[in-house]
Amino acid sequence: MAACSGEGAGGGRGADGDKPADLTIGVSMPTQTSERWIADGNSVKQKLEAKGYKVDLQYAGDDIPTQSQQVDQMITRGADVLIIAAIDGTALSGQLQAAADAKIPVIAYDRLIRDSPNVDFYVSFDNYKVGVAQATALLVGLGLQNRDGSKGTATGPFNIELFAGSLDDNNAHFFFRGALDTLKPFIDASTLKVKSGQTKIEQVAILRWQQETAQKRMEDLLTSSYNDGSRVNGVLSPYDGLSRGIITALQNAGYGRSAVKMPVVTGQDAEIASVKLINDGVQHSTIFKDTRLLAEQAVIAAEAFLQDKQPQANDTATYNNGVKVVPSYLLPVQTVYRDDIRSALIDSGYWTAEEVAAGR
Ligand code: BGC
Repeated sequence: MAACSGEGAGGGRGADGDKPADLTIGVSMPTQTSERWIADGNSVKQKLEAKGYKVDLQYAGDDIPTQSQQVDQMITRGADVLIIAAIDGTALSGQLQAAADAKIPVIAYDRLIRDSPNVDFYVSFDNYKVGVAQATALLVGLGLQNRDGSKGTATGPFNIELFAGSLDDNNAHFFFRGALDTLKPFIDASTLKVKSGQTKIEQVAILRWQQETAQKRMEDLLTSSYNDGSRVNGVLSPYDGLSRGIITALQNAGYGRSAVKMPVVTGQDAEIASVKLINDGVQHSTIFKDTRLLAEQAVIAAEAFLQDKQPQANDTATYNNGVKVVPSYLLPVQTVYRDDIRSALIDSGYWTAEEVAAGR
C-alpha cells in the first residue's frame, strides 16, 4: 500500500513515487448472475493489470452484507482506490466513511452510490437516455414512430405493460423516468393503454432485477388483466434478463405461436441470450452499453486519483446522490434492433457471429 500524501480522498495515494505494482485497486461488483457484470469485472481487472496495478476483484452474489464485508476487507487490505458497483445504492455509507478516513478515493461504477459525501467520481452511461431509448424502441416496434423520429403509420390503441428494475438501484429510477416521459403523451392520448393500470415505479419494479420475478409478474398480469380475450401488444422491459422472463411467461400463454403475435419486448445490455432472441425475431430490441468503454473510463479515473489529479468529468449537474452532485463521466448508448446486430455487436467484437447464432 502506498504512503498517503494527500488531503482527503483523492489526495494522490500514488503520488510519492510508488510504482503501479505497489498500488492496489479494489473492485467490487454486484453479481455474477448477469453477464454484463462479469464482463465489467474482467475488463476493469485486465486493463488495470496491463498497467501494472494489483487488483482485488470481488463479486457479492447480490447480497448486501457480503458486499459491505468485501469493501471493508478491501480497505483493511490496503486498497489505494475503490471502484464499486453497488447492489443497494444506499447501503455502503459506513464503508465509504471508512474509505474517506483512510483517504481512499471512491469511484461509483455504473450505479451511483447515494446518501454519502464520500463518493469522489461516477462513471456510467447516460441512464435517462437509456430509458428514452427503450421507450422509443417500444414505439418503433408498435409502428407509432419511425427510427428517424418521424410519426409511424400505426394508430393504435395498443395494450402495453411496464416493468422497472430494482428500486434500490439508482439507475432503475433514471431508466423508468426516461421511458415514462417518452411514453406519457401516447398514454395521455389513449394510444397506449397500460391495461393493468400499474404505472408507478413501486408497482412495476423487480427486486434485484430477477428474471423469475419478472416472469411471475408477467404471468400474474396475464391472468388478472388479460383474461377477457384482450392481448398485450408491448412490454417495456429495462433489462434483458427481465425480458427473457417476460417472454417465457408470454410464450407459456401462447404468444408467439400461430396467429398470436409476440408483443414488442424491449431490453438492455445486449446479453447474448437476448441478442439471439432478437436475431430470431422473438425479442424486439436491446440497449447496447459497451462495458469495455466503461471499464476504460473507470481505469482513467482511478489513475487520475493515483496521480493526485481529479478525473475529467463530462457531467457535473445530473447525479445528485442526496448529499452532493457527484462529478460524472457518462458514455452514450445505442439501441440495437435486429438489423443492427452485425454493425453494433459483431463488427465491434462484442460478440461473434457464432455466439449470436448459438445464444451463448
Ligand atoms: C445497469 C444495467 C443492468 C441492471 C441489472 C443496472 O444498474 O445499469 O445495465 O441491466 O443494473 O444488472
